[in-house]
Amino acid sequence: MKLALMHPRDIIASIMKRLYGYGMTTTSGGNLSIMDSDGNIWISPGGVDKGTLTAQDIIKVKPDGSTEGIHNPSSEFPFHRSIYELRPDVKAILHAHPSALVAFSIASRVPNIDLLPMAHEICGDIGFAPYEVPGSQKLGDAVSKVFAEGANCILLENHGTVTAGANLLEAFIRFETLDYLARIQIKAEALGIPRPLEESTIRKSCVRNPELPEFIPAGHSPRECELRSEMVKFINRSYSQMLAYSTGGTFSTRVSGNSFLITPTGFDRLNVLPGDLVLVQDGYREMGKRNSRAAGFCRDIYAKHDWIEALIIAKPPNIMAFGVTGIAPDTRTIPESYIMLRDIPAISCVEHYDNPGAVSELLSPSSPVVLVQNDCLIVAASSMLQAFDRLEVAEFTATSLLSATRLGGLHPITEEQVSELIEAFKLPV
Ligand SMILES: [Zn+2]
Repeated sequence: MKLALMHPRDIIASIMKRLYGYGMTTTSGGNLSIMDSDGNIWISPGGVDKGTLTAQDIIKVKPDGSTEGIHNPSSEFPFHRSIYELRPDVKAILHAHPSALVAFSIASRVPNIDLLPMAHEICGDIGFAPYEVPGSQKLGDAVSKVFAEGANCILLENHGTVTAGANLLEAFIRFETLDYLARIQIKAEALGIPRPLEESTIRKSCVRNPELPEFIPAGHSPRECELRSEMVKFINRSYSQMLAYSTGGTFSTRVSGNSFLITPTGFDRLNVLPGDLVLVQDGYREMGKRNSRAAGFCRDIYAKHDWIEALIIAKPPNIMAFGVTGIAPDTRTIPESYIMLRDIPAISCVEHYDNPGAVSELLSPSSPVVLVQNDCLIVAASSMLQAFDRLEVAEFTATSLLSATRLGGLHPITEEQVSELIEAFKLPV
Protein backbone atom coordinates (compact mmCIF):
# COMPACT_ATOMS: atom_id res chain seq x y z
CA MET A 1 0.00 0.00 0.00
CA LYS A 2 1.45 3.35 -1.04
CA LEU A 3 -0.46 5.24 1.67
CA ALA A 4 0.82 8.69 0.75
CA LEU A 5 -0.93 8.42 -2.62
CA MET A 6 -4.19 6.95 -1.35
CA HIS A 7 -7.28 8.88 -0.26
CA PRO A 8 -8.17 8.36 3.44
CA ARG A 9 -11.52 6.82 2.53
CA ASP A 10 -9.78 4.23 0.31
CA ILE A 11 -7.27 3.39 3.05
CA ILE A 12 -10.05 2.91 5.62
CA ALA A 13 -12.11 0.70 3.26
CA SER A 14 -9.02 -1.36 2.42
CA ILE A 15 -7.97 -1.97 6.05
CA MET A 16 -11.57 -2.72 7.09
CA LYS A 17 -11.78 -5.34 4.35
CA ARG A 18 -8.60 -6.91 5.71
CA LEU A 19 -9.88 -6.84 9.30
CA TYR A 20 -13.20 -8.41 8.42
CA GLY A 21 -11.65 -10.93 6.03
CA TYR A 22 -9.40 -12.28 8.79
CA GLY A 23 -12.18 -12.54 11.36
CA MET A 24 -10.82 -9.70 13.47
CA THR A 25 -14.11 -7.81 13.56
CA THR A 26 -17.80 -8.57 13.25
CA THR A 27 -20.35 -7.19 10.78
CA SER A 28 -21.41 -4.42 13.14
CA GLY A 29 -18.27 -3.97 15.27
CA GLY A 30 -15.06 -2.03 14.79
CA ASN A 31 -14.28 1.43 13.53
CA LEU A 32 -11.30 3.09 11.87
CA SER A 33 -10.33 6.72 11.43
CA ILE A 34 -7.67 8.91 9.87
CA MET A 35 -6.91 12.57 10.60
CA ASP A 36 -5.79 14.39 7.45
CA SER A 37 -3.45 17.37 7.18
CA ASP A 38 -6.42 19.81 7.22
CA GLY A 39 -7.68 18.50 10.57
CA ASN A 40 -10.59 16.55 9.10
CA ILE A 41 -11.31 13.15 10.66
CA TRP A 42 -12.33 10.45 8.17
CA ILE A 43 -14.14 7.64 9.98
CA SER A 44 -16.09 4.48 9.21
CA PRO A 45 -19.86 4.77 9.70
CA GLY A 46 -22.05 3.22 12.36
CA GLY A 47 -24.74 0.67 11.48
CA VAL A 48 -23.24 -0.36 8.14
CA ASP A 49 -22.18 -3.92 7.19
CA LYS A 50 -18.39 -4.06 7.69
CA GLY A 51 -18.19 -7.01 5.33
CA THR A 52 -19.26 -4.89 2.35
CA LEU A 53 -17.95 -1.46 3.36
CA THR A 54 -16.74 0.69 0.46
CA ALA A 55 -14.91 4.01 0.21
CA GLN A 56 -18.24 5.77 -0.46
CA ASP A 57 -19.46 4.76 3.02
CA ILE A 58 -16.69 6.66 4.83
CA ILE A 59 -17.67 9.86 6.64
CA LYS A 60 -15.71 13.10 6.84
CA VAL A 61 -16.01 15.04 10.11
CA LYS A 62 -14.69 18.57 9.73
CA PRO A 63 -12.91 20.47 12.54
CA ASP A 64 -16.16 22.42 13.23
CA GLY A 65 -18.03 19.13 13.83
CA SER A 66 -20.08 19.19 10.61
CA THR A 67 -20.09 16.00 8.55
CA GLU A 68 -20.04 14.95 4.90
CA GLY A 69 -21.19 11.52 3.75
CA ILE A 70 -24.18 9.26 3.30
CA HIS A 71 -24.18 7.79 6.85
CA ASN A 72 -23.63 8.87 10.42
CA PRO A 73 -20.10 8.57 11.81
CA SER A 74 -19.36 5.64 14.12
CA SER A 75 -20.91 5.98 17.57
CA GLU A 76 -17.35 5.63 18.95
CA PHE A 77 -16.34 8.93 17.32
CA PRO A 78 -15.90 10.64 20.76
CA PHE A 79 -12.85 8.59 21.74
CA HIS A 80 -11.29 8.96 18.28
CA ARG A 81 -11.61 12.75 18.55
CA SER A 82 -10.31 12.80 22.15
CA ILE A 83 -7.21 10.77 21.23
CA TYR A 84 -6.38 13.09 18.30
CA GLU A 85 -6.76 16.11 20.63
CA LEU A 86 -4.33 14.72 23.22
CA ARG A 87 -1.84 13.00 20.89
CA PRO A 88 -0.88 15.23 17.93
CA ASP A 89 1.52 12.52 16.68
CA VAL A 90 -1.40 10.09 16.20
CA LYS A 91 -2.91 10.29 12.70
CA ALA A 92 -4.87 7.03 12.58
CA ILE A 93 -6.90 4.94 15.04
CA LEU A 94 -8.26 1.41 14.90
CA HIS A 95 -10.86 -0.05 17.24
CA ALA A 96 -12.23 -3.61 17.11
CA HIS A 97 -13.39 -6.52 19.25
CA PRO A 98 -11.29 -9.56 18.14
CA SER A 99 -12.13 -12.56 20.31
CA ALA A 100 -8.66 -13.21 21.78
CA LEU A 101 -8.16 -9.61 22.87
CA VAL A 102 -11.73 -9.40 24.16
CA ALA A 103 -10.93 -12.48 26.28
CA PHE A 104 -8.08 -10.56 27.90
CA SER A 105 -10.28 -7.49 28.36
CA ILE A 106 -12.97 -9.59 30.07
CA ALA A 107 -10.34 -11.14 32.34
CA SER A 108 -8.95 -7.65 33.13
CA ARG A 109 -5.50 -8.64 31.82
CA VAL A 110 -3.22 -7.47 29.03
CA PRO A 111 -1.12 -9.82 26.83
CA ASN A 112 2.48 -10.22 27.95
CA ILE A 113 4.63 -8.44 25.37
CA ASP A 114 7.79 -10.00 26.85
CA LEU A 115 6.82 -13.38 25.38
CA LEU A 116 7.88 -12.31 21.89
CA PRO A 117 10.54 -9.70 21.12
CA MET A 118 8.71 -8.55 18.00
CA ALA A 119 5.55 -7.80 20.03
CA HIS A 120 7.62 -5.74 22.43
CA GLU A 121 9.17 -3.85 19.52
CA ILE A 122 5.96 -3.23 17.55
CA CYS A 123 3.39 -2.64 20.30
CA GLY A 124 5.36 -1.21 23.25
CA ASP A 125 3.69 -1.23 26.67
CA ILE A 126 -0.02 -2.09 26.56
CA GLY A 127 -2.42 0.28 28.35
CA PHE A 128 -5.71 -0.66 30.01
CA ALA A 129 -8.75 1.66 30.15
CA PRO A 130 -11.57 1.09 32.68
CA TYR A 131 -15.07 0.20 31.52
CA GLU A 132 -17.41 3.00 30.38
CA VAL A 133 -20.55 2.98 28.23
CA PRO A 134 -19.67 2.57 24.51
CA GLY A 135 -19.98 5.80 22.55
CA SER A 136 -19.96 7.98 25.68
CA GLN A 137 -17.67 10.94 26.30
CA LYS A 138 -16.70 9.19 29.56
CA LEU A 139 -15.25 6.35 27.48
CA GLY A 140 -13.55 8.95 25.26
CA ASP A 141 -11.95 10.55 28.34
CA ALA A 142 -10.85 7.19 29.79
CA VAL A 143 -9.32 5.97 26.51
CA SER A 144 -7.58 9.21 25.58
CA LYS A 145 -6.13 9.50 29.11
CA VAL A 146 -4.26 6.20 28.64
CA PHE A 147 -3.05 7.24 25.17
CA ALA A 148 -1.89 10.59 26.61
CA GLU A 149 0.40 8.59 28.94
CA GLY A 150 2.20 7.31 25.82
CA ALA A 151 0.62 3.93 25.01
CA ASN A 152 -0.08 3.12 21.35
CA CYS A 153 -2.09 -0.01 22.11
CA ILE A 154 -4.70 -0.33 24.83
CA LEU A 155 -7.33 -2.78 25.97
CA LEU A 156 -10.76 -1.50 26.98
CA GLU A 157 -12.14 -3.33 30.00
CA ASN A 158 -15.04 -5.63 29.05
CA HIS A 159 -15.03 -4.25 25.53
CA GLY A 160 -12.13 -4.59 23.03
CA THR A 161 -8.97 -2.88 21.88
CA VAL A 162 -7.76 0.41 20.38
CA THR A 163 -4.47 0.96 18.57
CA ALA A 164 -3.01 4.15 17.11
CA GLY A 165 -0.26 5.09 14.70
CA ALA A 166 1.25 7.72 12.45
CA ASN A 167 -0.82 6.10 9.68
CA LEU A 168 -3.52 3.43 9.48
CA LEU A 169 -1.16 0.68 8.34
CA GLU A 170 0.99 1.25 11.43
CA ALA A 171 -2.11 1.14 13.67
CA PHE A 172 -3.20 -2.05 11.86
CA ILE A 173 0.21 -3.73 12.28
CA ARG A 174 0.12 -2.95 16.02
CA PHE A 175 -3.41 -4.32 16.25
CA GLU A 176 -2.56 -7.45 14.26
CA THR A 177 0.57 -8.09 16.35
CA LEU A 178 -1.31 -7.64 19.62
CA ASP A 179 -4.10 -9.98 18.48
CA TYR A 180 -1.52 -12.52 17.35
CA LEU A 181 0.27 -12.32 20.72
CA ALA A 182 -3.05 -12.74 22.56
CA ARG A 183 -3.90 -15.86 20.55
CA ILE A 184 -0.47 -17.37 21.25
CA GLN A 185 -0.67 -16.63 24.97
CA ILE A 186 -4.14 -18.16 25.33
CA LYS A 187 -2.98 -21.36 23.59
CA ALA A 188 0.28 -21.40 25.58
CA GLU A 189 -1.51 -21.06 28.93
CA ALA A 190 -3.64 -24.09 28.04
CA LEU A 191 -0.44 -26.01 27.29
CA GLY A 192 1.87 -25.01 30.13
CA ILE A 193 3.47 -21.96 31.68
CA PRO A 194 4.56 -19.26 29.20
CA ARG A 195 8.12 -18.09 29.79
CA PRO A 196 8.69 -14.37 29.13
CA LEU A 197 12.09 -13.14 28.02
CA GLU A 198 14.54 -11.15 30.13
CA GLU A 199 14.84 -7.49 29.18
CA SER A 200 18.49 -8.03 28.15
CA THR A 201 17.40 -10.70 25.62
CA ILE A 202 14.71 -8.43 24.19
CA ARG A 203 17.32 -5.69 23.78
CA LYS A 204 19.57 -8.10 21.87
CA SER A 205 16.73 -9.01 19.51
CA CYS A 206 16.25 -5.36 18.60
CA VAL A 207 19.87 -4.94 17.47
CA ARG A 208 19.89 -4.45 13.72
CA ASN A 209 22.55 -6.16 11.64
CA PRO A 210 24.33 -3.66 9.40
CA GLU A 211 22.83 -3.48 5.89
CA LEU A 212 24.67 -5.47 3.25
CA PRO A 213 26.60 -3.34 0.74
CA GLU A 214 24.85 -2.72 -2.60
CA PHE A 215 25.55 -3.93 -6.13
CA ILE A 216 23.89 -3.42 -9.51
CA PRO A 217 22.86 -6.80 -11.01
CA ALA A 218 24.10 -7.36 -14.55
CA GLY A 219 20.69 -8.83 -15.37
CA HIS A 220 17.93 -11.08 -14.06
CA SER A 221 17.92 -14.66 -15.38
CA PRO A 222 14.68 -16.44 -16.32
CA ARG A 223 15.26 -18.76 -13.32
CA GLU A 224 15.50 -15.78 -10.96
CA CYS A 225 12.30 -14.27 -12.42
CA GLU A 226 10.51 -17.60 -12.06
CA LEU A 227 11.64 -17.93 -8.44
CA ARG A 228 10.45 -14.38 -7.67
CA SER A 229 6.92 -15.23 -8.90
CA GLU A 230 6.89 -18.51 -7.00
CA MET A 231 8.05 -16.86 -3.77
CA VAL A 232 5.36 -14.17 -3.95
CA LYS A 233 2.71 -16.85 -4.41
CA PHE A 234 3.79 -18.57 -1.19
CA ILE A 235 4.34 -15.33 0.75
CA ASN A 236 0.79 -14.21 -0.08
CA ARG A 237 -0.56 -17.66 0.73
CA SER A 238 1.22 -17.79 4.07
CA TYR A 239 -0.34 -14.44 4.98
CA SER A 240 -3.84 -15.44 3.95
CA GLN A 241 -3.50 -18.66 5.99
CA MET A 242 -2.21 -16.70 8.99
CA LEU A 243 1.14 -18.48 8.98
CA ALA A 244 2.84 -15.09 8.62
CA TYR A 245 1.67 -11.58 9.46
CA SER A 246 2.01 -8.13 7.83
CA THR A 247 5.69 -7.51 8.45
CA GLY A 248 6.76 -10.88 9.84
CA GLY A 249 8.01 -13.94 8.02
CA THR A 250 11.24 -14.20 6.02
CA PHE A 251 11.22 -16.17 2.77
CA SER A 252 14.34 -16.97 0.78
CA THR A 253 15.24 -19.11 -2.23
CA ARG A 254 18.70 -19.86 -3.60
CA VAL A 255 19.11 -18.76 -7.21
CA SER A 256 22.52 -20.40 -7.64
CA GLY A 257 25.71 -20.78 -5.59
CA ASN A 258 26.07 -17.71 -3.36
CA SER A 259 23.12 -15.91 -4.93
CA PHE A 260 19.67 -15.93 -3.34
CA LEU A 261 16.42 -13.98 -3.16
CA ILE A 262 15.00 -12.75 0.15
CA THR A 263 12.01 -10.75 1.37
CA PRO A 264 12.59 -7.02 1.90
CA THR A 265 12.52 -5.59 5.42
CA GLY A 266 9.39 -3.85 6.73
CA PHE A 267 7.31 -4.72 3.68
CA ASP A 268 3.61 -5.62 3.93
CA ARG A 269 3.51 -9.36 3.18
CA LEU A 270 0.02 -9.16 1.70
CA ASN A 271 1.08 -6.72 -0.99
CA VAL A 272 4.65 -7.80 -1.78
CA LEU A 273 5.37 -8.08 -5.54
CA PRO A 274 8.05 -10.09 -7.40
CA GLY A 275 10.07 -6.92 -8.03
CA ASP A 276 10.12 -6.09 -4.29
CA LEU A 277 12.19 -9.19 -3.43
CA VAL A 278 15.87 -8.51 -2.89
CA LEU A 279 18.61 -10.34 -4.80
CA VAL A 280 21.66 -11.02 -2.61
CA GLN A 281 24.84 -12.10 -4.36
CA ASP A 282 28.26 -12.78 -2.83
CA GLY A 283 27.26 -10.79 0.27
CA TYR A 284 25.89 -7.76 -1.64
CA ARG A 285 22.26 -6.66 -1.87
CA GLU A 286 20.47 -5.48 -4.98
CA MET A 287 20.84 -1.70 -5.42
CA GLY A 288 17.99 0.41 -3.99
CA LYS A 289 16.38 -2.35 -1.90
CA ARG A 290 16.56 -3.17 1.82
CA ASN A 291 17.06 -6.86 2.58
CA SER A 292 15.48 -8.71 5.50
CA ARG A 293 17.61 -8.49 8.61
CA ALA A 294 18.00 -12.30 8.37
CA ALA A 295 19.95 -12.03 5.06
CA GLY A 296 23.35 -12.68 6.66
CA PHE A 297 21.90 -15.61 8.62
CA CYS A 298 20.47 -17.14 5.40
CA ARG A 299 23.72 -16.51 3.49
CA ASP A 300 25.69 -18.49 6.09
CA ILE A 301 23.21 -21.39 5.99
CA TYR A 302 23.30 -21.59 2.17
CA ALA A 303 27.12 -21.52 2.29
CA LYS A 304 27.25 -24.42 4.76
CA HIS A 305 24.45 -26.63 3.36
CA ASP A 306 24.44 -27.56 -0.34
CA TRP A 307 21.13 -29.40 0.10
CA ILE A 308 19.21 -26.29 1.19
CA GLU A 309 17.55 -24.37 -1.68
CA ALA A 310 14.87 -22.53 0.32
CA LEU A 311 14.39 -21.15 3.82
CA ILE A 312 11.35 -19.84 5.69
CA ILE A 313 11.62 -18.11 9.06
CA ALA A 314 8.12 -17.62 10.48
CA LYS A 315 6.06 -17.51 13.66
CA PRO A 316 2.93 -19.60 13.09
CA PRO A 317 0.76 -19.05 16.20
CA ASN A 318 0.15 -22.67 17.24
CA ILE A 319 3.81 -23.61 16.88
CA MET A 320 4.74 -20.47 18.82
CA ALA A 321 2.44 -21.54 21.68
CA PHE A 322 4.95 -24.38 22.10
CA GLY A 323 7.80 -21.94 21.45
CA VAL A 324 6.91 -19.66 24.39
CA THR A 325 6.36 -22.47 26.89
CA GLY A 326 9.54 -24.42 26.16
CA ILE A 327 7.48 -27.57 25.47
CA ALA A 328 8.63 -29.51 22.41
CA PRO A 329 6.00 -30.21 19.71
CA ASP A 330 6.00 -34.01 19.42
CA THR A 331 6.07 -34.94 15.72
CA ARG A 332 6.13 -38.66 16.53
CA THR A 333 2.36 -38.62 16.58
CA ILE A 334 1.19 -39.07 12.99
CA PRO A 335 3.25 -40.34 10.01
CA GLU A 336 2.85 -37.14 7.96
CA SER A 337 4.33 -34.99 10.73
CA TYR A 338 7.35 -37.21 11.28
CA ILE A 339 8.00 -37.77 7.56
CA MET A 340 7.83 -34.06 6.75
CA LEU A 341 9.39 -32.56 9.85
CA ARG A 342 11.31 -35.33 11.65
CA ASP A 343 12.10 -34.39 15.28
CA ILE A 344 12.13 -30.61 15.82
CA PRO A 345 15.12 -29.54 17.94
CA ALA A 346 14.71 -26.34 19.94
CA ILE A 347 17.20 -23.73 21.07
CA SER A 348 16.72 -20.71 23.30
CA CYS A 349 16.52 -17.15 22.03
CA VAL A 350 19.64 -16.30 23.99
CA GLU A 351 21.65 -19.06 22.33
CA HIS A 352 20.35 -18.03 18.89
CA TYR A 353 21.23 -14.36 19.38
CA ASP A 354 24.64 -15.09 20.91
CA ASN A 355 25.56 -17.75 18.36
CA PRO A 356 23.68 -17.39 15.03
CA GLY A 357 25.61 -20.44 13.75
CA ALA A 358 23.88 -22.71 16.30
CA VAL A 359 20.78 -23.19 14.11
CA SER A 360 22.97 -24.02 11.12
CA GLU A 361 24.69 -26.71 13.20
CA LEU A 362 21.32 -28.30 13.98
CA LEU A 363 20.05 -28.33 10.38
CA SER A 364 20.55 -31.45 8.29
CA PRO A 365 18.54 -33.51 5.77
CA SER A 366 17.30 -35.56 8.75
CA SER A 367 16.57 -32.43 10.82
CA PRO A 368 15.23 -29.73 8.48
CA VAL A 369 13.19 -27.73 11.04
CA VAL A 370 14.42 -25.88 14.16
CA LEU A 371 12.35 -24.05 16.77
CA VAL A 372 13.89 -20.95 18.33
CA GLN A 373 12.01 -20.46 21.58
CA ASN A 374 10.12 -17.15 21.92
CA ASP A 375 11.17 -16.22 18.42
CA CYS A 376 10.51 -18.31 15.32
CA LEU A 377 10.39 -21.58 13.44
CA ILE A 378 13.16 -22.06 10.87
CA VAL A 379 12.33 -24.36 7.97
CA ALA A 380 14.89 -25.58 5.42
CA ALA A 381 14.06 -27.48 2.24
CA SER A 382 15.12 -28.38 -1.27
CA SER A 383 12.49 -26.02 -2.78
CA MET A 384 10.14 -23.22 -1.74
CA LEU A 385 7.20 -25.58 -2.26
CA GLN A 386 8.70 -28.11 0.15
CA ALA A 387 9.57 -25.38 2.68
CA PHE A 388 6.01 -24.03 2.59
CA ASP A 389 4.61 -27.55 2.88
CA ARG A 390 6.77 -28.15 5.97
CA LEU A 391 5.65 -24.83 7.47
CA GLU A 392 2.00 -25.78 6.99
CA VAL A 393 2.49 -29.30 8.37
CA ALA A 394 4.30 -27.88 11.41
CA GLU A 395 1.41 -25.52 12.16
CA PHE A 396 -1.24 -28.19 11.54
CA THR A 397 0.67 -30.59 13.78
CA ALA A 398 0.91 -28.01 16.57
CA THR A 399 -2.83 -27.32 16.26
CA SER A 400 -3.62 -31.03 16.60
CA LEU A 401 -1.23 -31.46 19.52
CA LEU A 402 -2.88 -28.56 21.36
CA SER A 403 -6.31 -30.10 20.79
CA ALA A 404 -5.11 -33.58 21.80
CA THR A 405 -3.74 -32.15 25.04
CA ARG A 406 -7.26 -30.98 25.89
CA LEU A 407 -8.73 -34.32 24.79
CA GLY A 408 -6.74 -36.26 27.35
CA GLY A 409 -3.12 -36.33 26.24
CA LEU A 410 -0.93 -37.70 23.46
CA HIS A 411 -0.23 -41.28 22.48
CA PRO A 412 2.90 -41.03 20.31
CA ILE A 413 3.89 -43.82 17.95
CA THR A 414 6.54 -46.23 19.22
CA GLU A 415 10.26 -46.25 18.48
CA GLU A 416 9.71 -49.36 16.36
CA GLN A 417 6.96 -47.66 14.35
CA VAL A 418 9.28 -44.68 13.76
CA SER A 419 11.93 -47.08 12.41
CA GLU A 420 9.31 -48.58 10.08
CA LEU A 421 8.54 -45.10 8.73
CA ILE A 422 12.23 -44.33 8.14
CA GLU A 423 12.59 -47.56 6.20
CA ALA A 424 9.30 -47.39 4.28
CA PHE A 425 9.82 -43.77 3.15
CA LYS A 426 13.61 -44.01 2.81
CA LEU A 427 14.04 -41.04 5.15
CA PRO A 428 17.59 -39.68 5.60
CA VAL A 429 19.24 -40.70 8.85
ZN1 LIG B 1 -16.39 -1.05 20.50
